[in-house]
Amino acid sequence: MPVSLRRGSSSLFARAQWDARRHSRLRRVERILVSSCLMGRPVRYDGRAKPVVGDLFERWRAEGRLVPFCPEVAGGLPVPRPPAEIVGSRVLTEDGRDVTDAFQRGARLALEIARRAGARIALLKEGSPSCGGTRVHDGTFTGRSTAGEGLTAALLRSSGIRVFPETDLAAVASLLAEWETH
Ligand code: SF4
Repeated sequence: MPVSLRRGSSSLFARAQWDARRHSRLRRVERILVSSCLMGRPVRYDGRAKPVVGDLFERWRAEGRLVPFCPEVAGGLPVPRPPAEIVGSRVLTEDGRDVTDAFQRGARLALEIARRAGARIALLKEGSPSCGGTRVHDGTFTGRSTAGEGLTAALLRSSGIRVFPETDLAAVASLLAEWETH
């Protein structure tokens, strides 16, 4: 909305009202932190993506809600990179290299980005040692999974952010509807 000083204070007041309405609308739009690979970015250990396909996801993308982030890349790991799994309290590659520090750094940065964006919801790639919300590989490098959380998912959740897997878009939609109508 253009501002004309010649039109005086009523015009400025109208602008202030317009700004207030706009900010009020923006406040109600919940943003969602999303694993970058789910948005089609080729950042996985094997250099590939895992894009989510679906109307809900495309609508959120068009609405500008989605905040893509890859904790492992942000933590300093390259693409491609050796696969890593959680083994006890550490994160190791198959040949025994300890990459725990990079994973922890990525988790902290994910939380920082979520807070800066005002995101109270995270949609994360299930099974990843960073992003997995309910299941991760079992540490044997045999393809088996077990109940557990990746480092980023755990930190986000313990910081009050609601974490969902990419297989549960309906639950995210339901939470958005609840929060945005109250
Ligand atoms: S760390 Fe998360 S965002 Fe990055 S590739 Fe793995 S699952 Fe995707």
